[in-house]
Amino acid sequence: NTFAEIDLGEALNLNIRRCKYVKPTPVQRHAIPISLAGRDLMACAQTGSGKTAAFCFPIISGIIRGQFERPRGYRTVYPLALILSPTRELSMQIHEEARKFSYQTGVKAVVAYGGAPINQQLRELERGVDILVATPGRLVDLLERARVSLEMIRYLALDEADRMLDMGFEPQIRKIVEQMDMPPPGLRQTLLFSATFPKEIQRLASDFLSNYIFLAV
Ligand code: AMP
Repeated sequence: NTFAEIDLGEALNLNIRRCKYVKPTPVQRHAIPISLAGRDLMACAQTGSGKTAAFCFPIISGIIRGQFERPRGYRTVYPLALILSPTRELSMQIHEEARKFSYQTGVKAVVAYGGAPINQQLRELERGVDILVATPGRLVDLLERARVSLEMIRYLALDEADRMLDMGFEPQIRKIVEQMDMPPPGLRQTLLFSATFPKEIQRLASDFLSNYIFLAV
């Protein structure tokens, strides 16, 4: 059981080899084929399980293959994928992972988090973004400034969803997801990751996911 046997595409497979990932972890072994098949996913996975690659690989692979058309805004950018995470540190880690694996693929990942000046993040966004990694509060700010549009989002990943709810981000998350309801249902794929599966997360799953597969590793 190796990454070479999973059909992620040549460019991504090369980056996986460059990073010396050989064997998928259990969450990757199950989540990647489910995501590649286009299904929504609710996965219970802990830190250190390899969950970041479990949602980054299918997103990168899907964007490379998708050749999605996008509007050109004057100051508004139209990412294809959004990865929401609770903290600046986690966002930076996810961005680093996404950047490593999209190396020389033409896929551009950008990170935006709160607690840091927004101007440098705005300049980075202006240069174009395919995968936006963001904390919910900062993203709401960018949406209110009309600097980011979620109209073209094809992939939504929520990482550590239980922690985001514990931190009080539910209103921001709902506001963000509401802005994505423009593409016809079925065009967007949602991947929800959480360490625990309490009532509140079950409710998010039933509100945000359609016909989803539940995975616990
Ligand atoms: P995560 O749970 O996504 O934070 O990943 C935990 C650590 O495991 C990170 O340092 C990853 O770079 C590493 N990692 C994830 N998947 C693999 C893999 N299949 N092979 C080797 N290392 C991995």
